[in-house]
Formats: sequence, C-alpha cells, structure tokens
Amino acid sequence: MDKRRNIFIFHQQRDHLGEKIKKLENISRHYGFHIVENSKEANIIVSVGGDGTFLQAVRKSGFRNDCLYIGINSGEQQSLYSDFHIDDQEGLVEAVSNSKIEVRRYPIIEVTIDEEPPFYCLNECTVRSNVVRTFELDVFINDFHFETFRGDGMVISTPTGSTAYNKSIGGAVVDPLLRAFQVTELASLNNNQYRTLGTSFVLSGTHTLTLEVVKGGNHFPIVSMDNEALGISHVERIQVKLSDRVIKTVKLKNNSFWHKVQRTFL
Ligand code: NAP
Repeated sequence: MDKRRNIFIFHQQRDHLGEKIKKLENISRHYGFHIVENSKEANIIVSVGGDGTFLQAVRKSGFRNDCLYIGINSGEQQSLYSDFHIDDQEGLVEAVSNSKIEVRRYPIIEVTIDEEPPFYCLNECTVRSNVVRTFELDVFINDFHFETFRGDGMVISTPTGSTAYNKSIGGAVVDPLLRAFQVTELASLNNNQYRTLGTSFVLSGTHTLTLEVVKGGNHFPIVSMDNEALGISHVERIQVKLSDRVIKTVKLKNNSFWHKVQRTFL
C-alpha cells in the first residue's frame, strides 16, 4: 500500500452524511487513494463538517505536521477552514486533478500550564474565571511585566482563530500568512486601581506570553483549547508561544483567506 495515498475521513455522526461519505470514499478509491480506519496510518486527513469539526479532526489526530488536512464543508454556511463542499465532490476532484489547489500552512500556538506537557491550539486558548467573581493575572511579554489584568479572562488566538471567539470580543482579524498570535481581553476592569491596555495586541512569533495567576487569587480558572475544556483545575502559570509546527491544509488557488472572510462576514 502506498502510504502517501492513505486517507482518513473524520466526520460527526450525522445520518444525512452517510451516503455522501460513501460517495466520497468511492471517488477517492477510484482515483487510487486508500481509505484507512486509523488516522495514524493516514497522510491525508479529510474533515467533513464545519469549522468545529475541522478543529476536532486536527485535535483528535494529534496536530500532525507530516500530513495534509482537507476541510470539506457539509453545511449551508461558509466555513473558514474548508474550501470544498460535500455536494461538489466532482469539483474537488477536478481541482486536485487540474492543479487548482495549493498548500497553505496555518500557524498554531503551543500552550504550557505549569509543569504539564504542552498542548496545541488551532483557533485559540482561553482562560476564564470559573466563578462569578473576577480573577487577576500578571501578564508578561518574555520576561517583561506588561500589565496586571483583572476581569473575566483572556483569549489567545492564532491568525485563523482570529475570526472566531477573538472576533466576537473585538479582536482584529489577522492574516494567517503572519507568524503571530493575538491576546484579547474579556471584560477587563479599568479604573484608578486596575489598568490594562484595553485593546487586543498582536505578538510576533518570536515572543512568549506568560500569564501568572496573582498570588492568593483564584487559581481555578477554566482553560480551553479550541472547542475542548482542559482537565486541569489548579493553575499558576500559563505560557503561550507560536509552535514550530504548522497545520498544512489544501486550499483553492483563487480562494484566499480574505475571500472567505468577505463571504462569511460582509
Ligand atoms: P460552537 O460554539 O458550536 O460554534 C462556534 C461557531 O464558531 C460555529 O459557527 C463555528 O463554525 C464557528 N467557528 C469555529 N472556528 C471558527 C473560525 N476559525 N473562524 C470563524 N468561525 C469559526 O463551537 P465549535 O463549532 O466547536 O467551534 C469552536 C470555536 O467556537 C472555539 O474555538 C471558539 O473560537 C468559538 N467560540 C466562540 C464564542 C463566541 O464567539 N462568543 C464562544 C465560545 C467559543 P461551524 O458552524 O462551521 O463549526
């Protein structure tokens, strides 16, 4: 079996998708690809669904650097991680056969909490108060103490994640060709005692962001990575940097990130 042509199809269990997935498998086999049951054996991972499904496909397969991810949308809405639609499988085959596609590399962030092994996020990592009260974080850029935050929490997003949660809380949309990540506040207190920048800020990929829970404060925030909550309850320090890994996706040449942003939001 030629390992370079192994496809794993990831999708949510939805009845209406069954026939379409079968058709996709048949078309793939017709063009000489092998369908595998385990994502570890694949070098192409296809996600059928929306952006939430794509995030899960990447997470469940371990943020693989050595394979291609392809997003196939199955909904009515435009999706930011998919350039293809499940109802246009011929279009996908035609695009692949006629070199209308190219590989895009999306930056991801690497997050380390205290002494735990690092984890990765394609959209964002959030840290939020788990109670009705605010919590405090000392914010460092590398070793430089930048500000002390008090409020509901913070969202640290990748460029592709900038159109998700980050955008809902007033962050900027960032071109994924930039190797950078963005820090956006959730309801900061700003008064004579507490002061934060009050706007989101974008850090270059050479910087490390450190969030330290202020001593004696609430050490039990909720931490999320994309669409999953992290099972760590006690947190003292969170470090975020851009990962050396990237997520390689297949995109149509004439469908840039900004085309998709326009179609989704304007
Ligand atoms: P969800 O809560 O069911 O849906 C969140 C919505 O965000 C869906 O419409 C999803 O698209 C869309 N989305 C996901 N990633 C996106 C991206 N990079 N750019 C633009 N839209 C995006 O959760 P989900 O579908 O599993 O997605 C998880 C994401 O939801 C998280 O990573 C976070 O960014 C976002 N979220 C947003 C808020 C907020 O805006 N207030 C709050 C919590 C979480 P599909 O329908 O195509 O899946």
